[in-house]
Amino acid sequence: MAVGPDVVTEALADIHRRLGSLDGGEPASYIPELARADPGGFGLALVSMDGHRYAAGDAQEPFTLQSVSKPFVYALALSELGLDEVSRWVGAEPSGEAFNAISLEDGTGRPSNAMINAGAIATTALVPGAGADERFERILDRLSAFAGRRLDVDEAVYASEAATGDRNRALAYLMRGAGSLACDPLAATDLYFRQCAVRATTADLAVMAATLGNGGVNPVTGRRAVSEAVAVQVLSVMATCGMYDASGEWLLRVGLPAKSGVSGGLIAVSPARFGAACWSPPLDGAGNPVRGTAALRELSERFGLHLMLSPAPAAPTIVGEPPLDAAPRAGAFAVVAAQGALDFTAAERVLFELEAGSGGPVLLDLGLVTRLDAVAEAMITATLARLAARGRRVAVVGDALPERPDAPWERFGSRAAARADRTADAGAGKPGGGAGGAQPYGD
Ligand code: GLU
Repeated sequence: MAVGPDVVTEALADIHRRLGSLDGGEPASYIPELARADPGGFGLALVSMDGHRYAAGDAQEPFTLQSVSKPFVYALALSELGLDEVSRWVGAEPSGEAFNAISLEDGTGRPSNAMINAGAIATTALVPGAGADERFERILDRLSAFAGRRLDVDEAVYASEAATGDRNRALAYLMRGAGSLACDPLAATDLYFRQCAVRATTADLAVMAATLGNGGVNPVTGRRAVSEAVAVQVLSVMATCGMYDASGEWLLRVGLPAKSGVSGGLIAVSPARFGAACWSPPLDGAGNPVRGTAALRELSERFGLHLMLSPAPAAPTIVGEPPLDAAPRAGAFAVVAAQGALDFTAAERVLFELEAGSGGPVLLDLGLVTRLDAVAEAMITATLARLAARGRRVAVVGDALPERPDAPWERFGSRAAARADRTADAGAGKPGGGAGGAQPYGD
């Protein structure tokens, strides 16, 4: 019997097969060159945080990013100028209006968010550089860092939009008049048309999405494209504004930060899990790709990716130890052993275990911990210090906690080394006690 591909590829292929016949919608035609797109073109791709790549259909077919470029140029502006400065020029509120709406804040003229055209043009206007070429290079460089390969421009699509993009120019002039555009309107829109005409494949888009989901580090190249803080800021705006006036419905049904574009591209990010992308040119009334919307919705349901679902921990935090109140040999360490990546949630479990028990010496084994984030480190450090302050002997195994000369805990190379240590036994007046007795912990 022939064995098919892996189950993820099989799931993508299945969704691709069934949705390939989904009719409805039309490719965008207001940019004449986009009307030439093959309405039957349909690609799907998924990239994990480990850089594993999956695809179905026309995932290697190139098309222009259009609005899918917006979150990445927003990321660039945030990296260069910071959130406070960018927010002076562009807001972060859903407009509830169409992608090309004249949606400017009363009084300031500031566009509602960076995912609609007005906000994207205002964002592009913030990209620094000595001239148009240098500014565009900076944009292309950053888009390429997200994709993990050098992208290029579809000159025909660029020329087509440049020849017909008067509405966007009008938006730019309105913003300039209101004082909310940082540079000349024609320069801003030309740069914006070029960024929209950058060409990529569905497979590229999935890597770009995965980079945002991976805290700004491209999971395929291992290179950082933006800081974690910027990735989080961009995902937040994508979650509320990425699907134009269908953003609320999208968050309800699909539950993933996303961004669509008029060429039929669509990305969705499952933070710390996957980047997903789809391409299919026919668009619905809100300007979102019909098949892409259905495909991402199905992917999210099938794989349980909705943001509001609590993620299952990859592995239990606490491993293989008896309860701390199991009356160990006097003076022996009771052991709490943790494993995997520790964040706030995992650290809470660890400190709960540490605080439990009868009050004797306690050993925290972090030998199997793969990552300790700053919050978890602070929580665990504070807990160990609290235990020591209460007079408990405290020790750690593993190097997850950084060395500190004033640390109130001892450090052992292994649990066995801690077990062999008889300091506490001597202190308890029971030299050699425990030999042959019940082992309070395993190795
Ligand atoms: N270049 C397109 C425009 O400004 C992008 C719009 C979109 O993809 O939604 O009209």
